[in-house]
Amino acid sequence: MKIVVASSNQGKIKEIKSYWKEYEVVGFSELLEPFEIEETEKTFAGNAVLKAEAISKKLKDEYLIIADDSGITVPALGNIPGIYSARFAGAGASDRDNLEKLIETLKENSLKETPAFYTCAIAMSYQKRVDTVHGWMHGKVIDTPKGANGFGYDPMFIPEGFDATLGELEASEKMAISHRTKALALSKKIISAVARLN
Ligand code: IMP
Repeated sequence: MKIVVASSNQGKIKEIKSYWKEYEVVGFSELLEPFEIEETEKTFAGNAVLKAEAISKKLKDEYLIIADDSGITVPALGNIPGIYSARFAGAGASDRDNLEKLIETLKENSLKETPAFYTCAIAMSYQKRVDTVHGWMHGKVIDTPKGANGFGYDPMFIPEGFDATLGELEASEKMAISHRTKALALSKKIISAVARLN
C-alpha cells in the first residue's frame, strides 16, 4: 500500500517518511501537479480532513492519503497562532517570517518565555472512509531563536523536560516526543488494520 502525504511542506514529509519505514511514502506533488488547498475550517482536524479529501478525489482508491494539519498555540497570547500557524505573518509567509512574527509578538507583550504547545491532527482517507487522530507536545516558547534543526517554530520551542529548543535537539530526539509522532502512533493502528484488509 502506498501512502500519499497531502502536503508540500518538506519538513513534515521528512518526519512522516522517517516514521513510516515499512510503507512507501510519497508527497502528493510526486503524483499530481501541485495545487493550493484553501484551509477554510476552524479546527486542525477539520483542515486535515479537507486536505486529505482534496487529494483523495484526484487519486485512485489504491492510495491511502494522510494529511497533517498542525500548529503552535500560545495561551498567554490568546491562543494564537493556532490553526493560522502557517500563515501567521500573512498569506505566502515563509517559516522564518512566521517565527519572527511570533518572536516580535512575545516582545510586544513583554514575554521572554511562556507556555505553549504544538498540536498535530492527522486525517487518513482510504476508499471513501476518513479517520482523524491527534497528538500534542507541551513546552514553552522563548523570545530568542536557537539552533537550526527541525522547521517552523522549532528554534523558539523548548519541550517540557528539556533545556534546549527543538532547533538544537537532534531529529531523533524531536521524533521521540513530538505531537506528530504521537498522532502518527495512533494513525498506525488504523493504517495497519486497513493494510490487513487488503
Ligand atoms: P499546515 O501545513 O497548515 O498544517 O501548517 C503547519 C504550520 O505549523 C507550519 O507551517 C509550521 O509553521 C507549524 N508547525 C507544525 N508542526 C511543526 C513542527 O513540528 N515544528 C515547527 N513548526 C511546526
